[in-house]
Amino acid sequence: MTNKLKYFIGNWKMFGDFSSLKIIYQIHRFCVRFKRRHKKNKIILCVPTTLIYYFNTKLKSKFISIGAQNCHSHKTYGPFTGSVSASMLKNAGAKYVILGHSENRAEGDTNQLIKKKIESALNQKLNIIFCIGETFKEKRDGKTLLILKNQMRGSVSKKYDLKKIIIAYEPVWSIGTGKIPKIQELKKTFKYIKSEFKKNFRTTTFPTVLYGGSVNVNNISIFSSISEIDGFLVGEASQSSEKFIDIIKNYYK
Ligand code: PEP
Repeated sequence: MTNKLKYFIGNWKMFGDFSSLKIIYQIHRFCVRFKRRHKKNKIILCVPTTLIYYFNTKLKSKFISIGAQNCHSHKTYGPFTGSVSASMLKNAGAKYVILGHSENRAEGDTNQLIKKKIESALNQKLNIIFCIGETFKEKRDGKTLLILKNQMRGSVSKKYDLKKIIIAYEPVWSIGTGKIPKIQELKKTFKYIKSEFKKNFRTTTFPTVLYGGSVNVNNISIFSSISEIDGFLVGEASQSSEKFIDIIKNYYK
């Protein structure tokens, strides 16, 4: 049920400016220094839209890919003030885009809208980091697996290029709170996501599924014991090169 490659994806959210290039350089230098030991890691930094082109032109790294954090559902250009389409992200050099993040769901992104965004992004051959996750109330009501199923079925279709979709399981109650699920809960949830996706979308292999929510240097070793987890989507701790690098180091300790 595991995919060998380990993903360490940073979600910088609304943080960073041109001077943040130094964070990426430091992570790049870490990758160069430990390239043999960490050759199975895939590092992706999803940065604010304003920085994608700049980082891509300045940084020539075979270790780090640059991604975006959201896109509009409309395919190319249109009268949507303040929005950016998948084709524009592609043009700026993004290889990945986060879609369905709970912070965007909280601002109105429904499963249906996320589906349209996924379609537009796949049309541009972008890789998708598709976030799913339950709220605290849904967890307390025992609805976690049902919510995850509805989110997957509501935004993904069998017809898509499913190899380009990475799922990030991010319990909403865990994001930015310092709280993480129990090991047994994680094992059960990851098994469920993988088998439900494979069964429902009739794939031959299990999907890549990441964990996201308050991952930091102190709790990363808890996750190392769970073989079903294919990597991590890291928010706050990815905005510092030291914290992000320490997460990767401690994962393998
Ligand atoms: C996120 O926003 O995707 C996230 C995982 O945030 P944090 O690590 O800060 O909880």
